[in-house]
Amino acid sequence: MNLIVMGPPGAGKGTQSRWLGERLDVPVISTGEMLRDEIKRKTALGTQAKRHMDKGELIPDALMIRVIEERLKRQDCKRGFILDGFPRTVAQAEALHRMRASLGGTIERAVSLSVPNEELLKRLSGRRTCRECGAMYHIIFDPPTNEGLCNKCNGELYQRDDDHEDIISSRLEIYDAQTAPVLEYYRKHRQLVEVDGVGGRDDVLDRILAALGVAKS
Ligand code: ADP
Ligand code: ADP
Ligand code: ZN
Repeated sequence: MNLIVMGPPGAGKGTQSRWLGERLDVPVISTGEMLRDEIKRKTALGTQAKRHMDKGELIPDALMIRVIEERLKRQDCKRGFILDGFPRTVAQAEALHRMRASLGGTIERAVSLSVPNEELLKRLSGRRTCRECGAMYHIIFDPPTNEGLCNKCNGELYQRDDDHEDIISSRLEIYDAQTAPVLEYYRKHRQLVEVDGVGGRDDVLDRILAALGVAKS
């Protein structure tokens, strides 16, 4: 199954994508994580991406499309994949559609998680991310067992530069202006599945599986 998980920053895309990836046994491709990894490795792409990410802006379409196209060509995507954080513009959605021949199929569903801004602010300002494996925690909603350390790999937890309040508000504005139109794109193509993203993380997962018609386990 080729799936897209969409939603504003903090909606739970990363959390739900990881679980869906395990459940469906397909790779999860998170563009945000890929870019943070490029920054960590100080590559040319990382340097370019960081300039935009630090301001909460999207990185240019041409660059992002090239990165995702390379990634989706890899062997592990042949049985399906989950995209977390791509497409974020209509131009990206159109480019993805054009790649379908080389993907071995179209995108079956775009799951959109809806969460009100007030809740997004709480989630993003308390989010902590593992420097090593990218796992997400929340200082109140999902604290790690040992403060500041990842439960899975013992890596250091940090607050992303773009998870500070001033940048959060511009990311939410950019979502409304540039990414919300992508929902319309998938609605028009009858691929959009809208899921309420508020409530316990397990409940949200159950709602997604039910909406996709996938058994719980
Ligand atoms: P969140 O999970 O909070 O929505 P991500 O980790 O997905 O954020 O993305 C972090 C940042 O990486 C974005 O704010 C943007 O700068 C950049 N980015 C990620 N995916 C894309 C994309 N598809 N197009 C352009 N920029 C992207
Ligand atoms: P996104 O990838 O859409 O930006 P994340 O999956 O990183 O979202 O989640 C954002 C923050 O909210 C993280 O700190 C995560 O632990 C927390 N979170 C995720 N799902 C829920 C939920 N259903 N209820 C409360 N907090 C959540
Ligand atoms: Zn970790």
